[in-house]
Amino acid sequence: MRRQQIRRRRVLFGAIGVVVVIAAAILLLTRGGSDDPATTPTVAEQPDTPSTTKKPERGGAQPDDSWKPHTGPVPILMYHVIGPAAGSEDYPGLFLDTDDFQAQVDWLAQNGYTAVTLIQVQNAWYDGGTLPPKPIVLSFDDGYLGQYLYATPILEKQGWGGQLNLKSEGSDLSSKQVKKMHRAGWEIASHTITHPDLTTLDATGLEHELVGSKQELERDLGIEIVNFCYPAGRYDDTVAQAVEAAGYRGATTVNPGLAEKSMPFELNRIRIDRGDGADALAEKLAALDV
Ligand SMILES: [Zn+2]
Repeated sequence: MRRQQIRRRRVLFGAIGVVVVIAAAILLLTRGGSDDPATTPTVAEQPDTPSTTKKPERGGAQPDDSWKPHTGPVPILMYHVIGPAAGSEDYPGLFLDTDDFQAQVDWLAQNGYTAVTLIQVQNAWYDGGTLPPKPIVLSFDDGYLGQYLYATPILEKQGWGGQLNLKSEGSDLSSKQVKKMHRAGWEIASHTITHPDLTTLDATGLEHELVGSKQELERDLGIEIVNFCYPAGRYDDTVAQAVEAAGYRGATTVNPGLAEKSMPFELNRIRIDRGDGADALAEKLAALDV
């Protein structure tokens, strides 16, 4: 009786073994077939993912053969709200219609631009990394819902991410939405905890806003925060030095012009105003020779 059971078990395990081997062979064959580089997108290194966590697959522009070393200036566009402006809104100039944004993204793509993150720019500037032929950063301040609802899918369709400058005390966007944007290829940068005028703070207050916001965002989102954006563009030498001391790699201002490698904590941006369509964007870039 016992021997019979053992024999049956051997037969059973033998059969399972054969099935497993066949399944593994099929799996290998199928995977081998899809390894054609022309059809399979490569999962490139994600520079803005902390090395301690498992690297997830993320969206956004990925290096290919057309990317080259680049240490020259890069345009950073500055957006606020994407979507319809409410009639009672205090700052209607901060709103950009979704259609205008779509037209701008289409124009950029048609004219050879590729949206990258500031982290990718810094990797090219300082670490020998590469950038596409016409790199551009699309930055969005303050975390408005339209940046998630409208800007994210429009950029995602193009294979691009933006840069989201976020207060750590919270915004219109939930952590879940911000994490989704990060997965879609966006860089998340700190915009302090409470959005104060940093030039009015003492050293303790300054450190709290700069170091505290970085820590809070990193804890909440589980990603590394590399860059900073001055609230309302307010900064002076003391503030800029404190941003560097807090461990950031760069900081964006509202000063007009192109971002330069030599001024990491005073990165210029190009303001996009209400009513700006593709033509206005083209004129603003042409005026800066990019
Ligand atoms: Zn702001």
